[in-house]
Amino acid sequence: MTTLVVRTRADLRAALADSPRPIGLVPTMGWLHDGHRALMRRARAADRTTVVSIFVNPRQFGDPSDLAQYPRNETRDVAMCEAEGVDLVFAPAVDEVYPPGFDTSVIVGSIAEPLEGAARPGHFPGVATVVAILFGLVRAERAYFGQKDAQQVAVIRRMALDLAIPTEVVACPTVREADGLAMSSRNVHLSPAERAAAPVLRTALLVAREAWANGERSGEVLRHRMRAQLAEEPLANVEYVSCADGSTLAELERVDGPALLSLAVRFGSTRLIDNEPLG
Ligand code: AMP
Repeated sequence: MTTLVVRTRADLRAALADSPRPIGLVPTMGWLHDGHRALMRRARAADRTTVVSIFVNPRQFGDPSDLAQYPRNETRDVAMCEAEGVDLVFAPAVDEVYPPGFDTSVIVGSIAEPLEGAARPGHFPGVATVVAILFGLVRAERAYFGQKDAQQVAVIRRMALDLAIPTEVVACPTVREADGLAMSSRNVHLSPAERAAAPVLRTALLVAREAWANGERSGEVLRHRMRAQLAEEPLANVEYVSCADGSTLAELERVDGPALLSLAVRFGSTRLIDNEPLG
């Protein structure tokens, strides 16, 4: 089976007109790894047509140098899609996604405000806008997203519900390296020393999870446990640690129900995030 690569909205529509349903969509920014592969496998198992989009979305980057440095290798990505039995890759140019005159932004409310929303102004409007376009173009029965970006999943679910988009949003578990580091396209930028230090994100989350499992219910104590663990690693520059309500993502004083531990940490210029749901 060969994977068909299309680059225009028209070619995507034409290819999908002949494709069996249900359709599963996996939106990505490329530089694919085993985390993306796991999403493709979920789609392949549930849907008759699997579509992967590869688009480094300029609107979700605040920092122009972050966008310029984002790793890209379409040949390798398409080969990986082919190996996973993906039917269709949509790899559009920026002008195809945002044609001249494009003038709409999708702004999701309070769920998009804390954490990544506060740390990266403009990020979630960029994400929600591109995902709304992809949902409109592909009209998939299901779309697959990684729990690694837990707030992103919550933002997209909110958007799909509010805008009456019928695509079901499916969240899939975080895929990790053997030492616990969450797979990410950005990991390629870590120096050897930073790469060796990076599993501290996972360690910090697990230390807090263990405290919670042993009965600790103070949000501040759990945040402190994570900060203390991260402080052991001199290369780690902490941007935030959070112990938040699992549905609103508001910071918790007490953990009485489902919660989300999450953190963002910089190693040099590379920014990594990870999270751990509780309960
Ligand atoms: P990205 O290409 O980084 O924008 O990610 C595309 C999709 O893959 C998003 O839904 C991510 O949450 C998901 N993803 C990225 N890394 C992982 C991972 N380590 N495990 C599971 N899903 C992931």
